[in-house]
Amino acid sequence: MRFIDEFRDAGLTHKLAQKIARISAKPARFMEFCGGHTVAIMRNGIRQLLPPNIEMLSGPGCPVCVTANQDIDRAIALSTIPNVTVTTFGDMLKVPGSYSSLQKARAEGGDIRIVYSTQDALQIARDNPSRSIAFIGIGFETTAPTIAASIMQAEKENLNNYHVLCHLKMTPPAMKALLDLGEIKLNGIICPGHVTAIIGTRPYESYARDYGIACVVAGFEPVDILQAVEMLVQQMENNNPQVQIAYTRGVKPEGNIKALELMNDVFDVTSAAWRGIGTIPSSGFKLRDKYTRFDADKVFKIETPPAREAPGCRCGEVLRGTVKPPECTLFRKICLPENPVGPCMVSSEGTCAAYYQYGDFNE
Ligand code: SF4
Repeated sequence: MRFIDEFRDAGLTHKLAQKIARISAKPARFMEFCGGHTVAIMRNGIRQLLPPNIEMLSGPGCPVCVTANQDIDRAIALSTIPNVTVTTFGDMLKVPGSYSSLQKARAEGGDIRIVYSTQDALQIARDNPSRSIAFIGIGFETTAPTIAASIMQAEKENLNNYHVLCHLKMTPPAMKALLDLGEIKLNGIICPGHVTAIIGTRPYESYARDYGIACVVAGFEPVDILQAVEMLVQQMENNNPQVQIAYTRGVKPEGNIKALELMNDVFDVTSAAWRGIGTIPSSGFKLRDKYTRFDADKVFKIETPPAREAPGCRCGEVLRGTVKPPECTLFRKICLPENPVGPCMVSSEGTCAAYYQYGDFNE
């Protein structure tokens, strides 16, 4: 197949669903790690196409959702420091922290600007040499290379008023942490397409080898996802867990070597706080010492009161796959996209937002 429409073809989608129903005998529980997959699965009614013995769970693959309250609080606190302009992707603006959100902080006078790329943030830094411009670095390995490139660009231009508050995270350690928690018994993982395009498939090999879990990297169209489910079912039925790529038009086994080199030059590995999971060792990126002057953490004194969670919000459990959004008593009653209680209702990749928009609320 060469054209994107072919990956949305209804006839092919139904044929794949029929094949899955035919070959799938055992009860199976698969998790899609990536928030982009969650939205695609919900929007295209993929779960309804699968036989009842296959359960799909959503995982912690929405970068905004897994950002811990303490880190959101730090972004808000940064915006209250005199002479600092905070730049951020739009998804972050409405995300509630412990006591406020960037949106509220902006309404209260903070200079907080939405940008569409790190290039926009760099331009704001060039245009405002007397102010400090801090970019909120939230995301996974897909976002990390562009942030790394922006730091190298700032160094090249000697743009010393550009800074990054780095809360970037790595996906494989979070998957491993979920498996080690043992709360949910998984048979297979739909591995993230865009992240794997950067990191390659090697980080998943231990899930198949050590945990006996089938792993398939998927794209984001209905045919992509059903092909991945079919491959997961084949692995499971044949008792042959391994790592396979269904998304061959986007992913190479070795990943993107140039992007990895770029990330490696700028970032070191550190522990990171994940909403719902806690602190995971070696699961985050921090700026290397040679880039300290661009590190908002080092340049500014950011002080926050102790973080707290919104009462009743079950985002942590949603992100671990132990509950589905309709099991949260606030879902669709108090927690709505226009009045989100937790981040999973805010983000375009959030599981609660996806259920709200496309879900069957009676499940
Ligand atoms: Fe949190 Fe709202 Fe989701 Fe409940 S429905 S888990 S309150 S985001």
